[in-house]
Amino acid sequence: MPELPEVDTVRRGLTPVMVGATIAKVTLNRPDLRFPLPGRFIARLEGRRVEALSRRAKYLLADIEGGEVLIMHLGMSGRFIVEDRRGQHVPGEFEQQIERLTAHDHVVFDLSGPAKVTYNDVRRFGFMDLMPRAELADSAHFKSMGIEPLGNEMSSDVLAKLFAGRKAPLKAALLDQRLIAGLGNIYVCEALHRAGLRPERAAGSIVSANGEPSEELARLSETIIAVLQEAIEAGGSTLRDFAHADGSLGYFQHRFQAYGREDQPCLRAGCGGTIERIVQSGRSTFYCSRCQG
Ligand code: ZN
Repeated sequence: MPELPEVDTVRRGLTPVMVGATIAKVTLNRPDLRFPLPGRFIARLEGRRVEALSRRAKYLLADIEGGEVLIMHLGMSGRFIVEDRRGQHVPGEFEQQIERLTAHDHVVFDLSGPAKVTYNDVRRFGFMDLMPRAELADSAHFKSMGIEPLGNEMSSDVLAKLFAGRKAPLKAALLDQRLIAGLGNIYVCEALHRAGLRPERAAGSIVSANGEPSEELARLSETIIAVLQEAIEAGGSTLRDFAHADGSLGYFQHRFQAYGREDQPCLRAGCGGTIERIVQSGRSTFYCSRCQG
């Protein structure tokens, strides 16, 4: 499943193709994705320019001329395929190497420029929506959404407020999208390992008694940002493995220190421990009991 860095990689791949281009034609090969497409979807997009493309958590947001925003979520297996007018893949960062079954081409955007952008989704857990920019923040998609981990609000002070008094394990608190939006299992395991924090610890235990962030919390805050930024850098280098392996990864999997490394030696210098796997809230957690305290 694409996590935040993978979605950001898609954003970077689509930006040069879509931003500034006019959507000449929209083709829907079915009336719904995970949810029905919004009413008059085609009429509200055709003939309008794409003014900007941004990301919030795992959502892609295309600002459309006239004030509406096209919301796009990749779900489990969604991907965008960029082609030129002759149907040739546009090579480079956005090249996709896995077999593409055109039966799963659900939405096609013919752009005024040289490109055509196709949304393909085998499992169809992805979705699209369209609404005025002014209604975005209060919409069902974003109303209860937590802070953006790579946004201005992210800081140890804000995390201290979010975690204070929480008995939930650190792992669960970091995955809670109402607190921080966009972190998934992989990057939470990696961030906790790198920060040297045990995933089962109560989230509130890394907030000082006076509500100030502890040294551990400051370290975790910095680590989350660093792990996500490094993953974005790695994802940006190629999308080949991203599409190949399981639809979720760029090159960052080669740098995993904890995730998926059960029974292998901990890679922290001088630790000598072994990565263990436990199950928390029905999902695997990988950590080192020797250096994560
Ligand atoms: Zn260790």
